[in-house]
Amino acid sequence: MYIFHKSKDLMQFLSQSKNNGLSIGFVPTMGALHEGHMSLIETSKLTTNLTVCSIFVNPTQFNNPEDLDKYPRTTANDIALLEAHACDVLFLPTVEEMYPNGLSNNKVYDLGIVAAQLEGAFRPGHFQGVAVILDKLLQLVQPDHLFMGQKDYQQCLVVQSLINIENINVNLHIVPTKRAADGLALSSRNARLTEGQRQLANLLYQCLVSIQAQKDNKSFKIVHKECIDLLERKGITPEYIYLCDAETLEILPDFDASRKMVVLIAAYLGEIRLIDNLVI
Ligand code: AMP
Repeated sequence: MYIFHKSKDLMQFLSQSKNNGLSIGFVPTMGALHEGHMSLIETSKLTTNLTVCSIFVNPTQFNNPEDLDKYPRTTANDIALLEAHACDVLFLPTVEEMYPNGLSNNKVYDLGIVAAQLEGAFRPGHFQGVAVILDKLLQLVQPDHLFMGQKDYQQCLVVQSLINIENINVNLHIVPTKRAADGLALSSRNARLTEGQRQLANLLYQCLVSIQAQKDNKSFKIVHKECIDLLERKGITPEYIYLCDAETLEILPDFDASRKMVVLIAAYLGEIRLIDNLVI
């Protein structure tokens, strides 16, 4: 695997690959890699000739400085995992490389309604930070295909909005969420859970599954309350459970069989904030 720390070296290498007619797949990550990330790498390898992964813990998308500080960083393991999955290129830039003019005064994007609610409301500035870094990375890599995880459902819609408004020539592929055996969505943040919290963490997924199972015989209001009560009884602090239109992310008051819907959940186990979703 080729590893680049500097944008200009990466761009030079990729321009040669493109001149040789290779199609480029890109998997942007923040590291602490796990099998969820690897399913993006594998999908890229099946779809394209050359897979580029980036690892960059992007400061501008963290609305909580402590979360940024404590974000797991496991570069040696990440490199080993990427090599084991035959990733072709790793881009590993510093903060200075990505933000040579400092972290403020970044471009502001009009990402529309998909970015305004849910994560957008509970993590102010988060999606602007995501847009800033994705725009920079996409300009550097100029991939044909971009691979992102359904685990971050709203992020996928926001990135599609960024692609549309900036007229970026790339195909976004949304890869299904990889889960642990008990249903918990794999996440770099899971590494920060205590043993006890880890035992309880799959309740987020269980709530999503129970909402799906009851959609034809109860109102969303009732199943929503059942889930909130269950989580709270177990010492988990739910932040939101929303039923949304799967394409527009419009918040729906109740199940609507005529639409494709998605249920999205965010909750705290102690200080650790987890998210998950299920298309129903
Ligand atoms: P992150 O490193 O958390 O920014 O994630 C990098 C990419 O991996 C994003 O597109 C995520 O949606 C995706 N991803 C994270 N966890 C999973 C998972 N469990 N299954 C599939 N994709 C995932």
